[in-house]
Amino acid sequence: MDWSLSRRYLLAGSAAAALVRPVFAAGAKPDLSEAGAKPVPLETVRLTPSLYLDAVTSNCAYLHRLEPDRLLHNFRKQAGLVPKGEVYGGWESDTIAGHTLGHYLSALSLMHAQTGDEECKRRVEYIVDDLAACQAAHGDGYVAGFTRRSGDAIEDGKRIFPEIVAGDIRVMPFDLNGCWVPLYNFHKTFAGLFDAERHCGNARAREVALGLAVYIDGVFAQLSDEQVQHILDCEHGGLNESFAELYDRTGNIRWMALAARLYHRKVLNPLAEGRDELADLHANTQIPKVIGVARLYDVGGQPEHQKAARFFWQAVTRDHSYVIGGHGDREYFQPPRTISKYVTEQTCESCNSYNMLKLTRQLYRWAPDAALFDYYERAHINHILAQHDPSTGMFTYMMPLMEGAKREFSTAFDDFWCCMGTGMESHSKHGDSVYWERGDTLFVNLFVPSQLAWRGGAFELSTSYPLSEDVTFTVRRPARFALALRLPGWCAAPRLSLNGKPSKIERRDGYAMVRRRWRAGDTIALTLPMTLRTEPTPDDPRMVAYLKGPVVQSKVGGNLVPFFRQYGEPAKVYFKTYSQEERAASNAEALRLSDLDSHSTDIAELGDDADEKAHALASKTSYAVVYRGRKGRDARSGGFFELDMKPGRGNLALNAIYSGDDKRRLFHILVEGERIATQALEAESRGGFIERNYPIPPSLVNGKSRLRIRVEPEPGHSAGPIFGLRLLSDAPPPSM
Ligand SMILES: [Zn+2]
Repeated sequence: MDWSLSRRYLLAGSAAAALVRPVFAAGAKPDLSEAGAKPVPLETVRLTPSLYLDAVTSNCAYLHRLEPDRLLHNFRKQAGLVPKGEVYGGWESDTIAGHTLGHYLSALSLMHAQTGDEECKRRVEYIVDDLAACQAAHGDGYVAGFTRRSGDAIEDGKRIFPEIVAGDIRVMPFDLNGCWVPLYNFHKTFAGLFDAERHCGNARAREVALGLAVYIDGVFAQLSDEQVQHILDCEHGGLNESFAELYDRTGNIRWMALAARLYHRKVLNPLAEGRDELADLHANTQIPKVIGVARLYDVGGQPEHQKAARFFWQAVTRDHSYVIGGHGDREYFQPPRTISKYVTEQTCESCNSYNMLKLTRQLYRWAPDAALFDYYERAHINHILAQHDPSTGMFTYMMPLMEGAKREFSTAFDDFWCCMGTGMESHSKHGDSVYWERGDTLFVNLFVPSQLAWRGGAFELSTSYPLSEDVTFTVRRPARFALALRLPGWCAAPRLSLNGKPSKIERRDGYAMVRRRWRAGDTIALTLPMTLRTEPTPDDPRMVAYLKGPVVQSKVGGNLVPFFRQYGEPAKVYFKTYSQEERAASNAEALRLSDLDSHSTDIAELGDDADEKAHALASKTSYAVVYRGRKGRDARSGGFFELDMKPGRGNLALNAIYSGDDKRRLFHILVEGERIATQALEAESRGGFIERNYPIPPSLVNGKSRLRIRVEPEPGHSAGPIFGLRLLSDAPPPSM
């Protein structure tokens, strides 16, 4: 971000200027040296005993348990080299294979920077060398581990690129020409290689990244802008960020031009214009491309890019986030300011908060406002710490906030979801946002126990925060600097003392500023009184959560305890006061359901293994789901499910329950092989369930003792999920 880069931009730009002028003509590269701040290098921060160090130590042990050769399996296989280890299970055995390796490279590099662990660095070198060997075997810069499905066969994912160049482009939200998010996968590899270079000084990592960049640029260079935009409709991580970063590192304008081309207009233009159109978008598909646009602003200076990033951050943190700082239900954004309706067991994917913290860092670099770290701290303590159980080293995908729901943790070798990858990174770098600098000012933004070496001085932060109110900053070896301690927004009356004597707080931009001629042993003590308080959801003042200081509380048994530490307990986070009308409505609904039961000739609990067996369920490309405490079953494009149900006397109707939030679903319902209904779902009743009745022609029943019910999606669509099926009869229920 320094001036020399700006100059490099001008010098290198002449040849390719025509490519980029329309995009960057209006902007001037921002000068961050005045207003902005930067994090002190992770290498200079060492954690001291605390729950943060526990997380790092546990995660380091897991990184050591993983075998690089197994994560490299598909990279070698696709390159025509003999794999040196068995492929891992879970997503690593699916067409997204290889995505973990990039995360693993990042995690090893960060862990080396955070702890000095030499084994992590050795593994980085081994992996980069092996990637270079795979790349050499391909011979054209390509290196990847993903595959694609072709009928029942699995083949090299590389095959999709000649098809794409030839104009055969098949895009679904998570699928490009039969391959599960290949561009997202590239982004992970780039990020891993960049971290290897930054934190382990691995020069070869940049060479591998450049080779891959040349290959990818070669593909995009042959596509029209419309084709590029079409491809960007498939989740692509922060591939735009990769090329902005590569430009920042190399000064080669070619990468800047490519980063600018990968600007997903459909999503980013509304953000730049200040419109929240996030509802029903897959949340974690969007955050990385916004981080990419923020990086594009860093290197290009286009004000719209900064505006899009800032607007997105504000919309998500203010209108879409739960009290723990996470967002999203079933991985998607809901309409703004509706979260009280979405307190379910499928809330808060972990990757999203990992990425929001990255975006927050980006915003803070532009303008160091303490309020940004109020959010950062909220999500860091209450979501990131919560997603990793230091006693096992395992990670969660979702962070369920619904009463009674428990966290589900990964297994060590057979899951490899996205959230395991980002989790490995998150818990390798708890020291990375504690200290920031601008000129001679040292900002302390997080109260994480640690030692710091900076500007020739040595410092120590000691505290049991967030489980205690006291934070002590000690100067071990003095240096010339001003100290800026963050005063959390939630704290009404912070107190400061200097060498044991109470001191008046000089406030600036949310910080307590201390400037003096430092001496060894100088001690600044900050006390942040924590009282229990409530915080309502943005849309319902009667639904509240409890916090003590920055820590969200949950109710376990009769006590309020910190939510983040409830790894194995079902926890209650939100508390709602119901009105008399709501109680009456709930009683009426219970009566209606009881009446429905008495008219049912059969009830099938879809998604329940035993009940499905009892109904002779058969299915293909169909999954059991749980949502809002109800079990259900869907069928994806090309699949179906069918089951037997018992008819009774009288006229019959099939009664099905759907989520009122599901949309873009289209499917058919068949009885005894005859289509009796076609159902579309378009989010007709947000935040609850809906029921539909389908009359069954008597000719199909005709004295049968079993009816075969089948649900199958229209090609290209999904069916359901259906959260319970009944056969209803209009005959009077048998008398007791
Ligand atoms: Zn994830």
